[in-house]
Amino acid sequence: MTYDLIVVGGGIGGSALAAVMARTGKSVLLLEKSTVYEDRVRGEWIAPWGVAEAKRLGLYDRLLAAGGHHLTSHVTYDETRDPAAAEAGALPLGMFAEGVAGPLCIRHPVHCQTLFDAAVAMGATALRDVTVGEIVLGDAPSVTYVHDGAEQIARAPLIVGAEGRQSLVRRAAGLTLHQDRPHHWFAGLLVDDVAEIDPLRQTIGTEGDFAFLTFPQGNGRVRVYGGWSLSDKARFAGTEGPRRFLDAFRLPSAPQNEAIANGSPAGPLFAYYNNCSVAERPHAPGAVLIGDAAGWNDPILGLGLSITYRDVRIVSGILKTEGGRPDFRPYAVERAERMRRLRAAAELQAGLDMEFGEPARERRRRYHEECAEDPALGMHGVAVLAGPETVPPDVFTAEHRARVLGA
Ligand SMILES: Cc1cc2nc3c(=O)[nH]c(=O)nc-3n(C[C@H](O)[C@H](O)[C@H](O)COP(=O)(O)OP(=O)(O)OC[C@H]3O[C@@H](n4cnc5c(N)ncnc54)[C@H](O)[C@@H]3O)c2cc1C
Repeated sequence: MTYDLIVVGGGIGGSALAAVMARTGKSVLLLEKSTVYEDRVRGEWIAPWGVAEAKRLGLYDRLLAAGGHHLTSHVTYDETRDPAAAEAGALPLGMFAEGVAGPLCIRHPVHCQTLFDAAVAMGATALRDVTVGEIVLGDAPSVTYVHDGAEQIARAPLIVGAEGRQSLVRRAAGLTLHQDRPHHWFAGLLVDDVAEIDPLRQTIGTEGDFAFLTFPQGNGRVRVYGGWSLSDKARFAGTEGPRRFLDAFRLPSAPQNEAIANGSPAGPLFAYYNNCSVAERPHAPGAVLIGDAAGWNDPILGLGLSITYRDVRIVSGILKTEGGRPDFRPYAVERAERMRRLRAAAELQAGLDMEFGEPARERRRRYHEECAEDPALGMHGVAVLAGPETVPPDVFTAEHRARVLGA
């Protein structure tokens, strides 16, 4: 029961890291709580820079073989824009990462299972239906867990926390999680039987008191998200909630949404309040955190998967090159700056798309008008698609924010 590495949480980050490290010959124990991966309304859209990270990790071909679906264009609708003009200005998505056709969509449960299978195929000891108990860190790390009715204790020089927002490893390490105030409600639903929609085009838009995002998955299936004000918590609650949610997509400023509203709900409707968070550090003696466990970006940008793949690449790089006690300080420095930039980008996007009423509408109208003259105003969007390190640092300053959102 002694391993080179124990990974707690076999979702995106945990399974990917276990696969990559097992491939290098390390003995890896991967502990996953669930028996099957279910639709928890989690990320199904990987930004082009995240796809590039998956390629660098040698995992992209598996995602494609599991049904990964590339999107190649983007349209921003808005109540202040003519829909035909919005469509005429469709943004091609194949130019943001070299050799990447555009964002990649794949169902989150399929994505997790594909990576878990990869970890098994590469030689990790990967267990499901595990209840993790005591986690000891420091000089002699260990994890106590129950599997198949038996309590076990496993030891390794390093425990990886990859179990998402409620990380046990983070708690065992005594690392504080700082969370921003929530900005808006955000809910997602998988929709089937969507006829007459461009399967390669993603869209976003805001009208009245509702904002939406749509991501076709192929074969008449679309993952949709909606955002609305924090003051209306129960707006889509109850058994009729999914139907009311789809009806909210019927917006004159986005005529293509009619096909979505006429589709059939194909999964649960879960609502989350959107915010950003950050752990005080993503490492402690005997532990390192990856993915949401280390802090997350507001899902308005859809970057949690890309962030997690980059975490896996950097952490696996450190583990591969360093014997003895790995030094995760460079990871902490890089991640802090990456998350700082993405937080600023998320605040801009949420300020533009997920605020409602006349002042917000006027702000968006002015933004779209000025952006046509000065595309630099939309550089936070380039950070989302190409990666936060690809745009000048001034995009993430209060001055830029004031230029985009007004004083
Ligand atoms: C509404 C919403 C929409 C989103 N949309 C997108 C999007 O479109 N694109 C995008 O990139 N990101 C999106 N995200 C974010 C993205 O889903 C996450 O950032 C990403 O899944 C994080 O990966 P992870 O591996 O850290 O955690 P997870 O994918 O959450 O995996 C954690 C795993 O740990 C397991 N686990 C939990 N506790 C334990 C335990 N005690 N013991 C053992 N195992 C445990 C869980 O069962 C799970 O399998 C969205 C998030 C939300 C809330």
